[in-house]
Amino acid sequence: MTRLVAIVTGGSAGIGWEIGQRLAADGYLVVAADRVPGLTAGENPAGILWRELDVTDHAAVDRVFGEIEDDLGPIEVLVNNAGIQRHRGLEDLTFDEWSTVVDVNLHGVFSALQAAGRRMLTRGEGRIVNISSISSRGSAGRAPYATTKAAVIGLTSTAGAEWAARGVRVNAVAPGYVDTGVFRQGVEQGTLSLDTILSRIPAQRLAEASEIAAAVSFLVSEESRYMNGQTLYVDGGFMVDYGVPLAKRPA
Ligand code: NDP
Repeated sequence: MTRLVAIVTGGSAGIGWEIGQRLAADGYLVVAADRVPGLTAGENPAGILWRELDVTDHAAVDRVFGEIEDDLGPIEVLVNNAGIQRHRGLEDLTFDEWSTVVDVNLHGVFSALQAAGRRMLTRGEGRIVNISSISSRGSAGRAPYATTKAAVIGLTSTAGAEWAARGVRVNAVAPGYVDTGVFRQGVEQGTLSLDTILSRIPAQRLAEASEIAAAVSFLVSEESRYMNGQTLYVDGGFMVDYGVPLAKRPA
């Protein structure tokens, strides 16, 4: 049976790699569209393919997606996962730091969404999942990251509304903290404290990347066919707990 094509941007590492594993297990032919081959060059039993792509290159996104369709078949699923962050207080943030994050996390998501969406619309079929973050609500020291992750939610709901009647569904997943690239970078730089973060998570643990991938799998499946423009928080309860962390759990 021909496998349907799923593209995961930034799919060579971290959460994107796990999303690729899960979609491959679901039966998709997965293409990691990333700047570097990363994990796709190592142990790769799921046979995830790699195409070189920098999502900040608007023209290249359209060209590479066209090449993927020519070589492998119609793009059925796009996961806009590529993302970066820079930690710095607003007053010290350089414009270069700001625009570097905006280029990847927002312009990159728009470019890929449009390039895949146009193709899906001509066939009246496709699913797109954008990766946002719990930081979309605001995150001190991470202004460009928080801003772009909030913008991704706005873009998701708009695209979900625009394309709902035309067979293309667009939704988002907003992960909590996962021990992968953007989180590790913060811990290593000392701008994120693991203990403080754990004390704020009702589930009292970080997320597994596979738990984020499971939500993506659901949002591209038929099971979620009546969902459009939604953002699913996969965060161990982080976004629903505005209380001060309990000193002791109630019995
Ligand atoms: P990683 O850094 O582990 O992986 C991100 C991947 O995206 C890397 O392979 C990276 O390549 C690639 N990438 C970066 N910039 C580009 C670009 N311009 N074009 C193509 N690929 C690019 O990050 P995570 O797995 O931690 O994060 C994945 C997504 O999940 C991001 O959108 C992030 O914001 C989001 N997220 C992560 C959370 C976490 O706690 N980890 C929490 C909430 C959301 P390279 O190594 O070359 O930069």
